[in-house]
Amino acid sequence: MITLLARSSAGIQFCAVHLRTKNVPSNLTSRCIVWPRLVVQDSVFLSAAKRHIHTSRPRFINPMIVAVLRPVSKFLAVIVGRSFRKWWQALPSNKKRLIIQHLRRNKGRYVFGSGVVGAATYYYYQSHTTTTLFTGRHRLMLFTPEQLLTLAQVQYETEREMYGDLTLPHNHPYSIQVKRVGLRLLRANKDIPQLYNKQWTISVIDLDVINCEVLPSGDIFMFRGMMDLMKNDDQVATVLAHEISHAILEHSGEHLSYGYLRDLLILVPLAIIWAFLPSDGIAAITHWFTNRVVKVCMQLPHSRTLEMEADTVGLRLAAKACFDIREASAFWGAMDIGTQHGEPPSWLSTHPSNADRQQLLDNLMDEAIAIRDSFKCPRLSQKDPRQEVKMMLALKDKLLKGELSPTHQKNVPVPVVSEGRGH
Ligand SMILES: [Zn+2]
Repeated sequence: MITLLARSSAGIQFCAVHLRTKNVPSNLTSRCIVWPRLVVQDSVFLSAAKRHIHTSRPRFINPMIVAVLRPVSKFLAVIVGRSFRKWWQALPSNKKRLIIQHLRRNKGRYVFGSGVVGAATYYYYQSHTTTTLFTGRHRLMLFTPEQLLTLAQVQYETEREMYGDLTLPHNHPYSIQVKRVGLRLLRANKDIPQLYNKQWTISVIDLDVINCEVLPSGDIFMFRGMMDLMKNDDQVATVLAHEISHAILEHSGEHLSYGYLRDLLILVPLAIIWAFLPSDGIAAITHWFTNRVVKVCMQLPHSRTLEMEADTVGLRLAAKACFDIREASAFWGAMDIGTQHGEPPSWLSTHPSNADRQQLLDNLMDEAIAIRDSFKCPRLSQKDPRQEVKMMLALKDKLLKGELSPTHQKNVPVPVVSEGRGH
C-alpha cells in the first residue's frame, strides 16, 4: 500500500497514525509520502458547497441500520400482503361486503391520508437533496460524509484481509507508476477541498482481474489485470482520475441512498402483489419480475449515470494535471476492440459500454483540451493516439462483417479478453 496524501501540519507523524489505524505495521511508515498542507481559496468552496437551504438540519440514517432494514422491510411487505390475502379469503362474504362499504364511505379520508404520506415523503426527499460537485446534478443523499467514512473503514478492513498478501510491494514498477501518476493528479487538483481532505492510498493487487475500485475514504484498489492493459501514464491517469472522481463526488453514498429509496418505493407494490394475486406461485413470479423491471429501469441506468459522471469529471482532473487526455478515449476504444461478441447489452449492465464511454470522452475532448491549455501544459504531440484505435476499430468492424481477406485478418490485433467492468 502506498499512502499518497496526509493532510496535516504534523506531517509524517499524522501519516503514521493513519497507517496504524488501518492495521498496517508501523515499519511501513517509511513508504508514506506527505503532501504539504495547502492553502485553498474560499472562492473554490462556493460552488462545491452549494446545497439546498434547510430550515432544520436533515436527519441522516445510519448506513449499518439501512443495510439491515432493506431486506427485512421487503420480507415484511411480503408477509403483510400474504397474511392479508389469507385473512380476506377466509372472511365470510357479508363481512367482506361491510368492509367494502366502509372503504367507499370513507374514501375521502383514505385519499387525504395517502396525500399526507406522499407530501411527507416528498418533503423528506427534498430536504435530503444535494447538488453534485462540478456537474450540478441534483441527487438524494441520505448519509453524512462521516457515516460513509465509517462504512469505508469496515470495507477497507475487509479488502485488506482479502488482498493483503496479494498487494504488490512499493518498489514494484506498477506501484511506482500508480504513485507517480496519483501524486501528479492530486497535486494538480489541490484546489478541490473534497480531494484535499482525503487521505489517498493505492494498493496494486496481484490478480489477473480487469478492475479498479475506490472507497469513500480515498482508498483505491487497482488490479494487476487492469495495469497490464494500460500502455502509459496517461492511460493510468484516466483510470485513477475516474476513481478519484467517484470518491470526491460521493457516489457510493448516492448509490446507497437510491437503493434505499427504491426499496422503500417498492414496499407498497410488493404488499399489493402478495395481497391481491390469487396464489403464492403467481405472486412469487410477479415479485421476481417486478424486481427485474426495477433493476433494469431504475438501478442500472442510475449506476451508468454515475459512471459517466466519473468519466466526465475524471477527464477534467487529468487535463489539469497535463496528461495527454486523448489517451482516455484511446483506452476505452482499445477496450471496445477487446469486447467479446455476444456480451450482454449495456442497458443490462451497471457500466456504460466501452464504445459509449469512448464516445462520451470524444464529445468532451475539446473542452478538456481547452482546460489543459488554460493550465499552461506542454503542447500535445502531433500524433493523436485515437487515430490508431479508430483504424483498429474499423478493421474489427470489417472482420465482423466478413469483408476482410485472410491476408488482412492476420494483421488484425488480437482482442483483449475482458473479465468484467467494475471500474
Ligand atoms: Zn467507475
